[in-house]
Amino acid sequence: MTRWVDQYIRNEEEQARVWQVDKLAAAFAERAARHDREGSFPFDNFADLREAGYLKLTVPKVYGGEEISLYEMVMLQERLAYGDGSTALAVGWHMGQMLHLRTSRKWQEPVFADLCAAVVKDGAMINTFASEAASGSPSRGGRPETTATAVPGGWLISGRKTFSTLSPILDRFVVTAYIPDEDGVSDFMVSRDEQVSIIETWDTLGMRATGSHDVVLDQVFVPADHRLTGKGTDDGGGWLLHIPACYLGIALAARDYALSFANSYKPGQMDKPISSIPSVQHTIGQMELELRTAHTLLYSIAERWDRETENRPALKADLGLAKYLATNNAIKIVDLAMRIVGGTSLSRQQPLERYYRDVRAGLHNPPMDNVVIQNLAVTALSEFE
Ligand SMILES: Cc1cc2nc3c(=O)[nH]c(=O)nc-3n(C[C@H](O)[C@H](O)[C@H](O)COP(=O)(O)OP(=O)(O)OC[C@H]3O[C@@H](n4cnc5c(N)ncnc54)[C@H](O)[C@@H]3O)c2cc1C
Repeated sequence: MTRWVDQYIRNEEEQARVWQVDKLAAAFAERAARHDREGSFPFDNFADLREAGYLKLTVPKVYGGEEISLYEMVMLQERLAYGDGSTALAVGWHMGQMLHLRTSRKWQEPVFADLCAAVVKDGAMINTFASEAASGSPSRGGRPETTATAVPGGWLISGRKTFSTLSPILDRFVVTAYIPDEDGVSDFMVSRDEQVSIIETWDTLGMRATGSHDVVLDQVFVPADHRLTGKGTDDGGGWLLHIPACYLGIALAARDYALSFANSYKPGQMDKPISSIPSVQHTIGQMELELRTAHTLLYSIAERWDRETENRPALKADLGLAKYLATNNAIKIVDLAMRIVGGTSLSRQQPLERYYRDVRAGLHNPPMDNVVIQNLAVTALSEFE
């Protein structure tokens, strides 16, 4: 079967990785329903990702990684999400952040080099825990209630982070903390020890297997050199495209499920499957419209980001637009897929209802819709300044 989505594979190297990731995704799809139902963290999937060398794909070559492009990361993440959205979103934070650190070089080099070595040798992963109950989404600029206090040789950090994806598996992570003495916010790399506890709060509608629990830090010591330095080179936030890639992957799985159903389901009174009915074809066409629009934009902006290295900050509005379209269209696509399938789409024995719940989470990953729209307005107005 020729798949439309395969047109996006550009060369043999990408093809080889796509084959490998498709195999992983198929295995993850088998386990997805159980992890979703139990809300359990898919340690088995992460063991497979580690074994396959997936975790080091965005690490720079100089530190032993594969240094894949943003375009390829988007493609592989989308394909992982086709099997299991939770696993793709969770590993996507790690993949994206390694890519971001590679291009922005915003950390001091020895700390980044150590992290890369741990990823390449031990299959370590990283994520940033910035969200908090009182200050909301960090993308809106709220000041964290987590604090860092200077002590001899480093810092003591206390606070509680929410939405801490990957928390069950990480042995180190980044937190944002407010420094009262400086009246400023900084990032710190925390190693998990007995002063760190994970409170298993993640019991949500969708993305149930991302392990996004609360993390409590009680006077955790962080050495001075693990206070991470500034912004580095502004890369426009291209790495965040792992998010739209994830939700489009789920939408593609829903679309394929509906297409396969429409092509095979032949109710008793019909001599052809329901795909022959004009109204069903119309709904399929509507799904394609939503899918191909978002997909084309996502891949074109990823490709531009890779190519236009000097222009990345100026791509921010379009990067946000790609996320906006992908997540909102993904919600519509899953809805249309369920209309095609009908009543059995509600069954917990079938994957569509999980897709329906999972895509909803995309609205609450950054950048949020109102931020994207505001950014588009500001960018447009700036042309007339
Ligand atoms: C599956 C999943 C995984 C996640 N993983 C991580 C992670 O690994 N690390 C992490 O740090 N975070 C993570 N997050 C958290 C995420 O980044 C957000 O912090 C979280 O979803 C809360 O965002 P919010 O917009 O609802 O929060 P809030 O900022 O509290 O906003 C709540 C509501 O208030 C309104 N509002 C608030 N401020 C404004 C404003 N300035 N302008 C307009 N309206 C406003 C909006 O209506 C908004 O919907 C994850 C979230 C999800 C769903």
